[in-house]
Amino acid sequence: MSAAFPKNSQAPMQGSVQTPEFAFWASDTLNSAHCSVATLCHSDTALKNGIDNQPDEPVRDNLLRLAETLTAVCILVGSPLQITSGFRCESLNRAVGGVEGSQHSTGQAADFKCPPFGSALELAHAIAASSITFDQLILEYGRWVHLSVAAAGEMPRREVLHINNAAEGYLHGLPPRTKADKSQRQVT
Ligand SMILES: [Zn+2]
Repeated sequence: MSAAFPKNSQAPMQGSVQTPEFAFWASDTLNSAHCSVATLCHSDTALKNGIDNQPDEPVRDNLLRLAETLTAVCILVGSPLQITSGFRCESLNRAVGGVEGSQHSTGQAADFKCPPFGSALELAHAIAASSITFDQLILEYGRWVHLSVAAAGEMPRREVLHINNAAEGYLHGLPPRTKADKSQRQVT
């Protein structure tokens, strides 16, 4: 099984990664980057509201790089990810109440969780401690991880944040892992 990584882009975690065996969509195998982009554009809200959530070319390029990064996360945690939100065109972003100018709107960000691996907090810690390149990693409300890639040609910030509520806003770093999180992580 080999993944079709786009040309002129860096394979995830080069040197430490075996053949990708984990896909981030539930029922398919990881066999083409096209599948990844399709998965990242899927939205129940878009379908329900008749919104055409198709990416244009620059967005597609971002989605390809995002898909690579998410694949690296799958390999890191040894499990598919549950993508809860990927690309959101402007009208979809408005429909779901997304922040204006969100990296979701440029195909640079996805929200996901991975219950087989552990809590969102545990997942965020694992990614932060890895060598995976990302722009922003945000643990949102303790419930999911928001991960983004830098725009083409820009330096990834590798910024780690968390947010508990809107009033408090974004805070640097991650909350510490609790004992319960650590033991939950051992359960397979
Ligand atoms: Zn997000």
